[in-house]
Amino acid sequence: VSARSLLLALVLGSLLASSALFAPRASRATQDQAAVPAAPAPFDVSRWRAEVERIVAAALECGEAPRMLRELCTLAPHRLAGSPGAERAVEWALAEMQRLGFENVRKEPCLVPRWERGAPELCEIVAPEEARGERLRILALGGSVGTPEGGLEADIVRVTTWDELAAAGERAHGRIVFFDRPMDPRHPDTFQAYGGAVDQRARGASAAARAGGVAALVRSMTLALDDAPHTGALHYEDGVERVPAAALSTLAARRLAELCARGAVRVRLVQSCRTLADVESANVVGELVGRELPDEVLVVGGHLDAWDVGQGAHDDGAGCVQSIEALRLLKQLGLRPRRTLRAVMFMNEENGTRGAQAYFAAHRDDMARHVLALESDRGGSVPRGFTTDANPRALETLRAIGALLRPAGIESVDPGYGGVDIAPMAAAGVVLVGLRPDSQRYFDVHHSENDVLAAVHPRELELGAAAMAALLYVAAELPEALPRNGR
Ligand SMILES: [Zn+2]
Repeated sequence: VSARSLLLALVLGSLLASSALFAPRASRATQDQAAVPAAPAPFDVSRWRAEVERIVAAALECGEAPRMLRELCTLAPHRLAGSPGAERAVEWALAEMQRLGFENVRKEPCLVPRWERGAPELCEIVAPEEARGERLRILALGGSVGTPEGGLEADIVRVTTWDELAAAGERAHGRIVFFDRPMDPRHPDTFQAYGGAVDQRARGASAAARAGGVAALVRSMTLALDDAPHTGALHYEDGVERVPAAALSTLAARRLAELCARGAVRVRLVQSCRTLADVESANVVGELVGRELPDEVLVVGGHLDAWDVGQGAHDDGAGCVQSIEALRLLKQLGLRPRRTLRAVMFMNEENGTRGAQAYFAAHRDDMARHVLALESDRGGSVPRGFTTDANPRALETLRAIGALLRPAGIESVDPGYGGVDIAPMAAAGVVLVGLRPDSQRYFDVHHSENDVLAAVHPRELELGAAAMAALLYVAAELPEALPRNGR
C-alpha cells in the first residue's frame, strides 16, 4: 500500500466513523487529525448521563462504603500478608461479597511472604552526653532483618544524596547511615514528592551496607512534621549484606540532624523483626456478571493487606471497599452492564505483590478478554480524576466518560499510572486506570499509626466509589470494547 492510499483510507475511515454513531466532535477531530493515523472520535457516551447521576445520588444517600470500611478496620486493623489479621480480612471480604449477592464469589490462592516486626524496637542516643538516653521514634522497614540480640551501637553518618554517601568513603565504615533527604514540598501532587524521596527507603539499606555501614535510618516519607514514623517495604540487593533498616519520625530525624550538625552522634538500635516461611493466603473475587457479554471482563480492585500499624484505612481499606461498593451500587440500581464487572481484593501489595502475580498467572489465558482494569490505591480522599496508560483512542473515550463524571468530582482523565496490583496486566494489552483522589493529606498518614478510620471522610470515600462505579458502568456498556493497548 502506498503512503498516499493509506492516508486516503484513513481519511475515509475517519469520515465514515464520524457519521451518525459518533459524537458531533468527530468532524472537527477529523480535520485536525487527518495526518495522524486512525483516531476516530469516541462513542457518544452522553446517553448515560442520567445513570451516572443516579449512581452519584445513591452513593451519597445510602452508600455502604463507610460501613464496610468500619467493619474491615475494626475486625482486621493490622493485616500484613501472612498475618492472622490478613486472614480475617480475607474471610470478611468473602462473607461481605456473598452477603451482598455478588456472583462467583471465591478465594483465589496465593503464597505470601510473612514478616513480623516483633518487639522490642528502639533507637536511643548514646552520645553526645547531653542527649544521652533520648529515644527517637522508629519503625523497622518492612522486610528488614533484626539487629543482633541486645541491639547494635554505632556512630551516625548523615547524608541527603547518593553522592554524599559515595563521598563519605571511610567515614561510612562501621556507621549507621542516616538518609535525611525530605520529600520536596514544592510539588502540588504529593505523589511526585514521594517518588522523589522513596528511593532512600527502598535502596538505603543495601546502599549503606555497600558503603561499609552496619544499619540504615531513613527519614519518614511524609510532608508532616510529627512523631509518627512511616514504615514501608525495603529492597535488599542480591549479594549485598543485609543490614537492619528503620524509618525515623520526621521530628526524630530533625533532632538527629541537629545533633549531627553539632558533632559526633552515637546511637543504639534494637530491632526484633524477622522473616518467616511463606504462608498460604488468597485474593478474594466477586462479580456482577455481564448481561450480554459475560466473558468480557472489567476488573476493579484494591489491596486487602495493610501495614501492621494504624488500621490501613486509606491504604488500602478505602480502595477495597470502594471496589465492592462500585458493584453494590450498580446492583442496587438494577444497572447490570453488558460486560462482567469483577471486584478483586488483592493480597500482599505492600511487601511482595504476590496476589497481583497470582491473579495474572491464574487468568493468563483469559487476558485477551480483560477489557480494562481499575485500581483505587491512593487513599479515600475526594476524587479528582483518573490516570491511565490507555492508547490515544481509548484515552479519548475515557476522557468523554470522565466528562460525564463531574457530579462525582472528576475533573480530568490524564495519562499516567494505573496501580501496582493491576500492573502485570499491562503486558497483555489491558488498559489500566487508577483513581486519583486529592493527594494533599495522604502522606500525612500513609503507612503510619495515623492511617485510621477517622482519617477517612465518609462522603469523600463514597464519591470515589461513585466515580468508579460510573466509569465502570459506562465502559462496560460501550457497544464496542475499548481498544486494547498495542505492544
Ligand atoms: Zn496501598
